[in-house]
Amino acid sequence: LKNKMSIEILSLPENVALARVTVAAFAAQLDFTLEDLEEIKVAVSEAVSNSLIHGYANKTDCMVGINAVIYDNDVLEVEIKDNGVGIADIQQAMQPAYSTTPERMGLGFSFMQSFMDSVQVDSAPGQGTTVKLTK
Ligand code: ATP
Ligand code: MG
Repeated sequence: LKNKMSIEILSLPENVALARVTVAAFAAQLDFTLEDLEEIKVAVSEAVSNSLIHGYANKTDCMVGINAVIYDNDVLEVEIKDNGVGIADIQQAMQPAYSTTPERMGLGFSFMQSFMDSVQVDSAPGQGTTVKLTK
């Protein structure tokens, strides 16, 4: 393990940008291209937005945890964790264009999957959701 960081943010929409730039600044210690860093920012934004919108139903008095690690092999791992409603069917939730919110595109997980090397979701109803991204 080469480096590690951990932050907790209140579930305010403006904190999505804070999470995105904080993780990007941490990731910039690695040899990522600017394009890679932009992709990491989008993936983190999508995961944090999901916690606020779906996990917490836009309630602004909840916490989202963001842990990032750089391993010895220069792999970046970012975990986004909420204690919200959780996801009953993770496979279905990750399908492109699947959304439980009618006006949404249902593409957040698709972006995460195309921009990161791996996306792992750990969730259950009532247990919150943890999304682990690596690149
Ligand atoms: P978009 O991201 O395009 O605005 P979306 O958020 O609905 O739309 P995804 O990000 O792919 O699409 O998420 C798919 C579905 O997974 C969501 O509609 C929601 O039902 C569920 N989901 C995702 N993240 C969470 C979470 N943290 N807590 C609870 N449910 C979630
Ligand atoms: Mg989404």
